[in-house]
Amino acid sequence: MDWNLKDLYSSIESKEIKYDFVKLEKRSLKFNKKYRNKISENSSAKTVLESIVELEKIYEGLGKISSYSSLLFAADTNNEKYSKFYQDSSEKISNIRKNLIFYFLSWNKISERKAKKIYSNPILVKYSHLLKSERKYKKYMLSEPEEKILDKKSITSSRAFNRLFDQTLNNLKFDIKLKGKKHTLTETEVLALLYDKERKVRTEAAKSLTEGLKSERKLLTFIFNQILTDSKITNEIRGHTSPMDSRNLSNEISQKTVDALIQTCNKYNKFPIRYYKLKSKMLKIKKFMDYDRYTPLGQSSKKFTFNQAKNIVLDSFNEFSPQMGKVAKLFFDNNWIDYKLRKGKRGGAFSHSCVPSVHPYILMNFTGKIRDVMTLAHELGHGIHQYLSRKNGYFQQNTPLTTAETASVFAEMLVFTKLIENESNNKEKLHLICSKLEDIFATVFRQIVMTNFELDVHNKAKKTGELSSSDLDASWVKANSKMFGDSIKISEYYKCWWMYIPHFIHSPFYCYSYSFGELLVHGLFAKYNENKKGFVTKYIDLLSSGSTSSPESLIKKTGLDITKNDFWEKSMYLMSGLLKEAESIYYKKQ
Ligand SMILES: [Zn+2]
Repeated sequence: MDWNLKDLYSSIESKEIKYDFVKLEKRSLKFNKKYRNKISENSSAKTVLESIVELEKIYEGLGKISSYSSLLFAADTNNEKYSKFYQDSSEKISNIRKNLIFYFLSWNKISERKAKKIYSNPILVKYSHLLKSERKYKKYMLSEPEEKILDKKSITSSRAFNRLFDQTLNNLKFDIKLKGKKHTLTETEVLALLYDKERKVRTEAAKSLTEGLKSERKLLTFIFNQILTDSKITNEIRGHTSPMDSRNLSNEISQKTVDALIQTCNKYNKFPIRYYKLKSKMLKIKKFMDYDRYTPLGQSSKKFTFNQAKNIVLDSFNEFSPQMGKVAKLFFDNNWIDYKLRKGKRGGAFSHSCVPSVHPYILMNFTGKIRDVMTLAHELGHGIHQYLSRKNGYFQQNTPLTTAETASVFAEMLVFTKLIENESNNKEKLHLICSKLEDIFATVFRQIVMTNFELDVHNKAKKTGELSSSDLDASWVKANSKMFGDSIKISEYYKCWWMYIPHFIHSPFYCYSYSFGELLVHGLFAKYNENKKGFVTKYIDLLSSGSTSSPESLIKKTGLDITKNDFWEKSMYLMSGLLKEAESIYYKKQ
């Protein structure tokens, strides 16, 4: 079934679209004229309220057209009419937006004392968090001319090194000899071979990846050093005290919370270590190497129709909360999901929040595998979240990035638990659990390994200046050894694999967000298992709050304090349970 986009517009020829464009342009010009000089030190809370309500309405109007054009295009990218419509409306929208950009810039120019007086006024309670968080960078901003210089110069500094990194990696060639034949592969292709079931192939892939990377070792080391220095200089100029500061600021997460997360993960590295020991036994590999980690354990051959997937997902949601089940059912009953495979349709899956006056839409490519059942649950998790938080309006419907995956991962967990419960075949069950554990470890522990590595090298560079390739290798091995312990032997190849990780260059300290997102859900799940009835309402409230407050304070309302180690300790229960179950199934079989 294709989705029904008529809730947005009847067709691209619809008169309503033209009418909306004309209307929105007029409104935006009027808005600009009326408020251009009125958002200032002399503004009253009433003016701010009136203006922000109008601004939100204009943005929502633009959002509706933008959603319609991008969804049409996503479902049929080969359709020239749609791609032209998408292109044209994007241009028109960005032209109208130009009339509105002044608003938050002017708001940020108001002094802290005055701004606080405005956003603390009870009439602005709905927008208080938004107004406050728009100003979160203010403390670290320089004067306007200085910011302009920094921005312009970044084209030839950090942004240039980002581009150079991409170009270098994209142009790398990876030579490999497989079954007597020589091949030249791209980075993606050689990385995929690390998941091959034959050890010989994996070893060759590890060797080839290393040789390819080492052919640009000097350059990649130089680029990394420039990023470290750039970050050091920027932090000094802006007044950030720790190298992670600016990342935490944009994530709206305090250093205290990040520290608690990292400390707990470091403490529980024993889980991946125990798992790799189990896996080496399952695969009968005595000396378990880093390139053996991703060996497939066999795949589930089970197939599902879309209807079966729908029932599994709805059953698990309903069991958790009838309200959640009811919202999910809307997506099926009203055709808000486009799931069929079609030529020209975008790959992957997403849930698009659209605008509060309409509802979210989901796109996925359903092939009947168990992964697709999980994807359906994942996207519906997003969809339910987006649907419930519509009441917060266009500006605060979506959560910040760090909590954006909470509802989706939680929904997956509900379905996963159900699948495990209903699986009577022990071999299937073991594979299900192992593949889940591997996903979790990659999201939780590996990302903290990366963060520990980054912390180490940023601090070292701050103290001693430029780092050599072997300095970087040493830090990389040190960080990884914690997660591998005595379960995995690190090969000579692996020692330089910091070289290809794009996050270190493009978005320093981004990695912990993945770990945060996953473990947060485990923590919520632990709370749910502790007190099922009491938790459900609080969870639904959490989803309904959108981004009306910081993640820390929203989660606090569910009775959990993520700034404390105790919360993260409890989030380890779920993994512990899965690990025990995997071990018990395996050893019983022996
Ligand atoms: Zn997602």
